[in-house]
Amino acid sequence: MDEDGVVWIPSPNYFPNRDGHSPKWIVLHGTAGFHTAQEVGYYFQREDSQVSSHYVVGQDGTIVQCVSEKDGAWANGGLTAGHDPWWPTDVNPNNVTISIEHVKPSTDNSDELTDAQRDASFRLILHICQRHGIPMRKADGDGGITGHFSLDPVNRSRCPGPYPWDDLFRFLEEGDMISLSHPEVANYFEDAGPDRWRCKKNGLTIYGAILKFYRSFGGNGFNGLTYLGLPRTGELYPRQGTAVQRFERGIVAYDPRHQLDWPPGSGSVYLLHLSSPYGKAQSANVFSALLQRLSHQE
Ligand SMILES: [Zn+2]
Repeated sequence: MDEDGVVWIPSPNYFPNRDGHSPKWIVLHGTAGFHTAQEVGYYFQREDSQVSSHYVVGQDGTIVQCVSEKDGAWANGGLTAGHDPWWPTDVNPNNVTISIEHVKPSTDNSDELTDAQRDASFRLILHICQRHGIPMRKADGDGGITGHFSLDPVNRSRCPGPYPWDDLFRFLEEGDMISLSHPEVANYFEDAGPDRWRCKKNGLTIYGAILKFYRSFGGNGFNGLTYLGLPRTGELYPRQGTAVQRFERGIVAYDPRHQLDWPPGSGSVYLLHLSSPYGKAQSANVFSALLQRLSHQE
């Protein structure tokens, strides 16, 4: 199994090792029938069904995996007239795609996803993109995410049927960022305008690029809330074009031109070095005073 927390119902219907190819696209489908992900999994388990997909996402958010991501599923059939022009025609599409079915009881795939199904689908897609370096955007010749309709507009124009594409791409842009809709995060922060959170415990705000960093830093638990803790100062400006903000567990610098430091691989926001003058300051007060002094020297 490639994804945590899935139900493994292996199917015999697959191309071992993708005949040497690797996945570049994710293709979404609707089941046009069936009521649970398990039910679909058992159908794909039958050799005589001659079909399979890597994943099936149920209306209750259950994810069933039927084919390993290293193998090609039997989900897509071939390309038909009017397919998106960038699909390679010299390779079986199943060997370069990862397929996700969504349980839709209506035989015309007209069901909207349930909330649980949408959340499970979005997270699964994010993780697959991360595992295989698949671009987190609408598919084009370099990879990405699309529906079955893109390959087979003749027979599968209604596959997957309604899907919240805009919400998906917004979600992927935000990645694993924490948000105020999570009760634990909302316990500590409230909305204070566009791209700005106010700490409920001390009134200090985090915003812009540092907020974006805070919402994703750490990559698990509650990201910045877990690894940086609460803000201890507002933004301070040691040099023009830079900002630093002290948190309970670290000091964050916004420094797109890398005037203060340039940690390997860093973008415009990074953690300050512990031995920098700012890093050594033991308390928020010392930190602010030091910053003020340093900024006046320039
Ligand atoms: Zn399909």
